[in-house]
Formats: sequence, structure tokens, C-alpha cells
Amino acid sequence: MPDIPFDNTYARLPEQFFARQEPARVPQPQCIRINPGLAASLGIDADWLASPDGVAMLAGNLIPDGAEPLAQAYAGHQFGGFSPRLGDGRAILLGELVDTAGVRRDLQLKGSGRTPFSRGGDGKAALGPVLREYILSEAMAALGVPTTRALAAVTTGETILRQDGPLPGAMFTRVAASHIRVGTFQYFAAQRDTEAVRQLADYAIARHYPQILDSKDASCRYAALLKSVVAAQAELVAHWMSLGFIHGVMNTDNTAISGETIDYGPCAFMDAFHPQCVFSSIDVQGRYAWGNQANIAHWNVTRLAETLLPLLDEKSDNATRIAEALLAGFSDDFGTRYMSRFRAKFGLGESAPGEIIQRGLSLIADQQVDFTLFFRHLTGVAAGGNPETLAAMFTDKAPFEAWLSQWRETAPDPTQALPAMRAANPVVIARNHRVEQAIQAAYAGDYAPFHRLTDALADPYAEDEKRADLELPPTPDEMVHETFCGT
Ligand code: AMP
Ligand code: MG
Repeated sequence: MPDIPFDNTYARLPEQFFARQEPARVPQPQCIRINPGLAASLGIDADWLASPDGVAMLAGNLIPDGAEPLAQAYAGHQFGGFSPRLGDGRAILLGELVDTAGVRRDLQLKGSGRTPFSRGGDGKAALGPVLREYILSEAMAALGVPTTRALAAVTTGETILRQDGPLPGAMFTRVAASHIRVGTFQYFAAQRDTEAVRQLADYAIARHYPQILDSKDASCRYAALLKSVVAAQAELVAHWMSLGFIHGVMNTDNTAISGETIDYGPCAFMDAFHPQCVFSSIDVQGRYAWGNQANIAHWNVTRLAETLLPLLDEKSDNATRIAEALLAGFSDDFGTRYMSRFRAKFGLGESAPGEIIQRGLSLIADQQVDFTLFFRHLTGVAAGGNPETLAAMFTDKAPFEAWLSQWRETAPDPTQALPAMRAANPVVIARNHRVEQAIQAAYAGDYAPFHRLTDALADPYAEDEKRADLELPPTPDEMVHETFCGT
């Protein structure tokens, strides 16, 4: 067995941060997919990963030397309601590796059996959610969005029970900058354990925002942490929204301090543009709709600020004032980043009025135009193409023609705008109906659609006729309106 250079730091934190727990043994692990590029960046031999020993490790049957398996403790607000104790109920951190870029990464098994945090759950994962997380997280990485990554997916040979019946069991190996969540801070704050909050904050600063350590004043250091997380969330949500991405479950336990996208459950890329678009069947209020994600990110970082109050200043009035000032910056910060991303998508210069963007988005919302294809065809027009393909997307032509002529007057020289437009407007995204088809085919024993989709999504900005079918929105009978949380 090759040496995996684990270098663990979370396991050195006080014992109340986690529960030491080995993964469950499973009967018959089989490899679905390995991510060789990611393995190489972690110094793990991809051929070994795909070997019986490697697959045994990915299935939790073999604990490599240097791993210190543990389940992390955290709390969280789920759909607004607080749970003081969530924690890894179906995941185990094997340890950490420093990648070739010098970044420390967590190696985590998901679906690895019960832990002290499992409550009523079985600690397992079904094949569908594992494939979904693989597809979506790698698609996001290729799009340039900060995200946890997929190192591997394996089946376990088990059958597990879910609402919709028995399903094949699977496991996912996740790589993350860390798994520290807003909910991790809440776990200790809820116990009034200020010392643990401080240790966690110091750990998070050292790991994710080391530049803060240059500042001398201790209270300033925690304010700087809050400021950094606020900025990272503003940037992340602006980036999501520019791609039509809906996370679906932006609970505080699914909000990573690192600023990575984490916990791909019932998430989706929108097809037809609708700002109130929701994909999760349990999100009946539209709390996590596309257009509400900035509000929720602000709400989530406010929950983080509350946990940090005792560290910001000894006097609670002062602490509140510091936190409020930092939180107040979120809206402007988000707005600037959002407008900058949409300016690039529309091929507009920095001085272009926001009004043309608002009108453009209202137009595609009113006529339920496909979000991704609209921007792709607009890029085609900017490149000198015939506007007919773009016009054909609109049933009511007059408002479109009016908007297009305004756009032509406002958009800078296409040769200037085109590189930014191409970089901001992907050709192929992980369309929900394709993800569903890949999952259903896998349940029927055919993994080819999963591999084909995952391969295509690795290069989302390239035009390639061989995958034209993956670029198209769903036909009415292919449409998937909800993604169930059946994890
Ligand atoms: P998530 O839906 O991934 O954000 O998970 C919310 C919480 O439920 C976390 O504490 C998970 O560890 C826990 N959880 C979800 N599914 C299971 C399961 N099958 N077994 C045990 N715990 C689970
Ligand atoms: Mg979660």
C-alpha cells in the first residue's frame, strides 16, 4: 500500500470538536469513478485508488496509515430552525493532505455509516445522491466556482432503505479546503463555550485567512475573520447566481467558512429563468430560491457574527457595533460583485448603466427564456452572428427587439467584450434533467450517461457538436421540477 502523506491538524483540536469514529465495513465495494487529476494534486496514485486496496479505502474497509478517522461536531439552522447538535451523521474525516499548490485539504468519506451524530439516520448514502454530488461539484469546479471536490464514487454492495424504497448503497470521497461551517461555530456558541469558539476561530484564520495573522490586535483578528467570511459568501453567491445555480439548502450547517460551495443536495442550475425558482421539494416557502440567495447568505453570516460577539469586544455594545458595521457591508459588496459578473455576461463595460441588465433579466424572466442559452446566443450576436437564433427564443418579439437595440447602443466594441462574455457564459451546464437521466440509468446498471455527462462538464466553455444534446434545455416531458432530498 502506497504512503498517503496525511498531515492532520483537526484531530489535534480539543476532544469536544469531534468524535473518533471508524467507518463501517461494507460487503462488496466497487469503483464507479476516480478523479485522477485531483488524486495527483493530492499526491495519491490514481491507479492505486482504482485497485482493490484503493477501492477498499474509498469504501471505508481499509484505514490507511496516518488517517485519524473522526466525525466533526456542528450545529445549524435548518430552514430557520436551530438544532444545537447535528454533526457528521454519515461522514468521516480520514485526515488532511497538503496538495501540490500547498493548500491543506480534508479527505472525507460520505455515506460511511453511523456516528455519534447520526440521530435516527443510518449513516449511509444512496447511489443517486452520490452521483449527483460527483457531477455537480466537479461541474462547479470546472466553471471556476469555489467548491468541494469529488475524488471518487464507489458502490458498497449494500441495499439501503429510503422513502422511495430500497436503493443501492454508495460512498463519496470529498475533498474540501475544510469542513468548518457556520454551524461549527454555532455548536460551541450554543454551549456558551467561548474558549472553544476562540480556538475554532484561530484555527479557521490560520487555515483559511492566514493574512489576518499580520494584524496585531486580537479583537481586530476576529473582526477580520468575520469580514473575510462575509466577503467570501458575497462573492460565492454572486458567482452562483451568474450561472443560474440554486444551492437549494443554504442552512448554516451547509455554509463553509472557507467560501467553498458545500453539501450538494437538491441543488440545480435553472433552465428557464425565474428569479423565484426553487428546486427542493421541502423548500415550500421559497426560502432558498435563486433570487433569495443573497438575503440568506447575509442571514447566515449574521448567525456567524453572533457566535463571534464575545471575541469582538469585552463590552457587548461595542461588539454588536463592530459586527453590525461588518454585516452592513454585505449588500453593497454583493451588489458590486453581482453587477460585475452580469456586466461580463451581457458584454457591457464597467460604465454601462445597471438598468439595461435589469431590463434584460426581466425580459428573459417574463418570457421564461432559458438562462444559459440566452447568454450563449447573445455571445453569438456579439461575435457578429445573426440575431435570429436569439430572437427565436422570445415569443413576444417587440420587447426583445427594443431591448436588443438598446443593448447594441450600450455594449462596447465586441472584440473587447467577447473574451469576458465567453468566460462568463458557459456552453454546457449540469442541466437537471440530464443529471436525473444519468442517475436513473445508473440505477438501471448503465453508468455510461453519468461518465459522458461528467466528462462534458469538465470543459464547460468549449463548443463541441458531439455533446450538443447536453447543451439543450429539457423538452416538456424531460422537465424535472423538484429534486428530492432523498439522501
Ligand atoms: P445535510 O442534509 O447533508 O445537510 O445533513 C443534515 C444533517 O443530517 C447532518 O447532521 C447529517 O450528518 C445528517 N444526516 C443526513 N443524512 C443522514 C443519514 N442517512 N444518516 C445519519 N445522518 C444523516
Ligand atoms: Mg449538510
